[in-house]
Amino acid sequence: MAAAACLAITGLAAPAAAATAESALPSGNTTYRTLADYERDMETLAREHADLVKPLTLPYPTSSGRLVRGLEITRNVQANDGKPVFVTVGMHHGNEWPSGELVMEYAVDLVNAASAGDPYVSALLDRARLVVVPVVNVDGFVRNRRQTDTNVDMNRNYGFGWLPISTGGAAPWSEPEARNIEWLLSTRQATTFVTQHTCIQVVLYPPLQLAVGPTQDVARYEDLATRMAKRYGANYIPRDSAHDYETTGEAIDWAYFATRGLAFTAETCPDRGLPRTFQTQVTDTYPAHRLAMFEALENTADPAQHAVIEGKAPKDAVLRITKSFDMYTQPYPQPDGTTRPSGFPTTLTSDLDITQPNGKFHWSVNPSYRPVPPYQADGVHPNQTGFHTEPWILTCERPDGTVLQRTPVNVDLGQTVTVDLQQCTRNFHKKDLK
Ligand SMILES: [Zn+2]
Repeated sequence: MAAAACLAITGLAAPAAAATAESALPSGNTTYRTLADYERDMETLAREHADLVKPLTLPYPTSSGRLVRGLEITRNVQANDGKPVFVTVGMHHGNEWPSGELVMEYAVDLVNAASAGDPYVSALLDRARLVVVPVVNVDGFVRNRRQTDTNVDMNRNYGFGWLPISTGGAAPWSEPEARNIEWLLSTRQATTFVTQHTCIQVVLYPPLQLAVGPTQDVARYEDLATRMAKRYGANYIPRDSAHDYETTGEAIDWAYFATRGLAFTAETCPDRGLPRTFQTQVTDTYPAHRLAMFEALENTADPAQHAVIEGKAPKDAVLRITKSFDMYTQPYPQPDGTTRPSGFPTTLTSDLDITQPNGKFHWSVNPSYRPVPPYQADGVHPNQTGFHTEPWILTCERPDGTVLQRTPVNVDLGQTVTVDLQQCTRNFHKKDLK
């Protein structure tokens, strides 16, 4: 599979070469964007390519009241069509400007390539949906500071395994910027997630702490991190985040243990000895970044790397899958004098519109089998190897939200499950259903 992906990507030089108006970047830019530039560029892409690009505003304004914006990109983007989702974000740290540029340039690149009819990109966008949020810590970016306007490192504020370190925030999920990413990944089937940072040369994956041991999906992580690191360059190291340096409350740990989508921290940096300029950190890094991102997008589209629910439902029905569970911080001193973890509820939910006249659907989802987390109600339980077998709860609904059928669905990695929605179909057009 890796070899096939290699060949496909190697055949892709054309779109970048075609877009060399001012610089080698897809946008032709030669300097960093301001916040206004990001917003204008996103608006323009969405306006000029309504078939490919849909704007997205995250639900929580920053602590200083700014909006956090992104884009969804896929073929026929307005349809809620059940493609697997690749989410990539930049600038958890507001002073790591190249991380936002790389995310934005990849969006521009894909849209340019797809609208020019590039067969490789077009085929990928037939099979997967990309969500980009180039600047997640908008206040930090505007002030060129690592932290948010509440002096919190938002990448220490995610609730899973959280500890009250000095930059972690007053409580798990205290920061709207972190809750935005929680929302983003909880409301769609993000089978791959990459958060960009600078400035080292690594591709990192969970866990964040040595004491918890490797995750259940360590082999898949090693495989994809290795392929991405190779794309970035010979000096890039794929490894678990704990072996880079230990932290707490980062996005990737929560993302993986909540959703089982593969979650990576990609850190780019010029080779040692080179100056850190727009040229070296963005223009010269971008060609490798795009290849690393194609590895992630290929992983997203690969049915062996997610699960599929398929079947037949009434045209115009809405299908929804949901699951709810509690997740935990690490133990820490509580106001009542005890030292124990805090719990927080997590709900994953996403939906699919039935638009085909024959009602057939094919829904790419994360597996229902969730990795047993090392952080639990009664403390830290390292070296977990198992999975919770809790199902997705699938509902078949009328467009007005009337639930006509509810059925549990267990589906494992790489598996396709067919659900029987005859009850929903029988009742969909009945008028007086109670
Ligand atoms: Zn960073």
